[in-house]
Parts: sequence; C-alpha cells; structure tokens
Amino acid sequence: MEPENILSLVVPCYNEEESIPLFYQETQRIYTESLETLGLVLEYVFVDDGSSDGTLSVVKRLAETDERVHYVSFSRNFGKEAGIYAGLEAASGDYVAVMDADLQDPPALLPQMVAALEEGYDCIATRRKNRKGEPPVRSFFARLFYRLINKMSSTQIIDGTRDFRLMKRMVVDAILSDKEYNRFSKGIFSWVGFRTKWIEYENVERCAGKTKWSFWKLFLYSVDGILAYTTVPLALVSVMGIILCLIAFIALCFVIIRALIFGDPVAGWPSMISIIIFLGGIQLFCLGLIGLYISKIYLETKKRPLYIVRERK
Ligand code: UDP
Ligand code: MG
Repeated sequence: MEPENILSLVVPCYNEEESIPLFYQETQRIYTESLETLGLVLEYVFVDDGSSDGTLSVVKRLAETDERVHYVSFSRNFGKEAGIYAGLEAASGDYVAVMDADLQDPPALLPQMVAALEEGYDCIATRRKNRKGEPPVRSFFARLFYRLINKMSSTQIIDGTRDFRLMKRMVVDAILSDKEYNRFSKGIFSWVGFRTKWIEYENVERCAGKTKWSFWKLFLYSVDGILAYTTVPLALVSVMGIILCLIAFIALCFVIIRALIFGDPVAGWPSMISIIIFLGGIQLFCLGLIGLYISKIYLETKKRPLYIVRERK
C-alpha cells in the first residue's frame, strides 16, 4: 500500500452525546496501536442527524481540537439511512468504514478489516453471531424478517448483518450512485456486489445512551426493506386471487348441483356473511399492499433531497 492512505470513519449520530467521546477515545486507541503503523491517516465524519441533545457541540469540540474530525449536521432528524449517505458523500478516504457511535461496531476489528482489504477484497462486511442482550421478541422477528426477505428477493441479506463495513473507494462510489429515496442500506450494500469478506463477532451492547429503534420503528423499517427489494408480495397476491377464484367456481358448481337435486331452501346466511367478510378482508389487504408500493413510487418521484444540511466542517 502507498503511504498516507486515508481511512474515513463515517459515524451517523442521533442523540449520542454520551457515546461520541467514548467512541473517539476507543478509535484513537486502536489507531495509535495498530493502524498508524500501516501508513493510514484517520479521518472522522460525524453526521449529526438532527439530535436534540448536545451531540453537535460534543462533535464541534472534537473538531476544534482535532483537524481530522469533520461533521455534517442536519436541519432535522432524517434517519440513519440519510446519515450514512451524507457521511459517505463527505468522506474523502480511499478506505471508508461506516460505524455506529455506540461502540456496538467494535473498532478493534478495524486492523483485521484493513488487512483483509489489502489482501484484495473490495469490501469487508460484518455480522453478529448472536443477539445476546436483545429482547427475545425482537430477535424472533428479526430472524423472521431475514428468512422472508431472502426467500422473496434475489438480493440476499445475511442474518445479523450490521451496517458496519469497510469499503474501498469504488464501492463507496457505487453506493453513492444509487440515489433512491427509500434507502435500505443492508440491501444496497448487497446489491452493489463486489468481492466481500464476512467477519463475525459476538454481539456487543451499546456503551451509553439508549437504542433509537422502537419495535414499531424496526417493523416499519423491515417492511421498507421488503418493499424496496422484492415485488414478490404482489405476485403472491395475484396467485391468491386466482386460487380464491378457483375455490369460488368449485363452490358455485356445488351450490347449483345441490339446488338442482334438493331444491333451494334459503339457508346458509351466517356462512355467507363470513365468506363476504373474509373476502373483503383479503381485498383490503391486497389493496393496502399495492398502496404501499404506490406510496413508495410517489415518494420516489418527488425527488426530494435525502437530507438537508444546517452546518458542516
Ligand atoms: N442513528 C441515526 N439516526 C437515527 C437513528 C439512529 O443516525 O434516526 C444512529 C445512532 O446514533 C447510532 C446508529 O444509528 O450511531 C445505530 O442506532 P442504534 O444504536 O440506536 O440502533 P441499534 O444498534 O439499537 O440497532
Ligand atoms: Mg446500537
């Protein structure tokens, strides 16, 4: 490797005033211990995602004392996906890593990831082996989500994938060239391809502060992921329609033949109501599903910017 390669750390931060100093300390430690000798120059890109606590002032203080610290501060909360995009855009490194501020993405893995890049990989991805310390319900639905999306989509997303990645410049440029509004990074990372090496590690609990993801937010995020990477649900709904038509046709034949043989006393009112409600429910579900896709098209066609910057350095 030529000397003086820049390694950028892109860190989306939303209300992380407690975590950022710890993150900075830990990455500094790893850097002086084992990255500096490789001839790497570190650059930080903190993205303040419209935090309502002291995140921005903490970052600014760091930037005053350390010229390698850069930041982008949003005008409001735009979500982690927008944060990642803005950070990647602002990063100037030949190597770029995306990391959470809460040390759940261990900086200690960086030296080994850099080594793998230099072996010839384009991108080093990480996944956690277990979900230790996570509520069981959350783990169950997370697993279900990965099973579902991998069955339905040709873009494979490995269970436990983190957004923690180290990439070469060309991978970053590929990711930035995808300007879609409905962003699902785990999908985009997989979709751009490239020679990727996977590193596994034990789950680490966040160092300070609280998770920004409620169960409901995660659920909506997973629905977004499915909508963004597969249209199989639409096909399933069509198949369901055909099957119901077939069943209805068979039932109709049965009713006609029975009426011809036994006459037609008025009966079966409750069962008919049940069937109507059942079918009504299915129709609403399907309409809703189509609506979800349409709403994504709607948002995409507006071509709104992914984020708005209030301040930067
Ligand atoms: N984050 C963000 N914007 C948001 C929510 C989260 O930039 O709207 C950042 C957050 O500061 C952290 C990372 O994304 O650095 C992961 O968030 P968190 O640790 O809350 O998620 P979890 O690890 O619990 O999945
Ligand atoms: Mg976290």
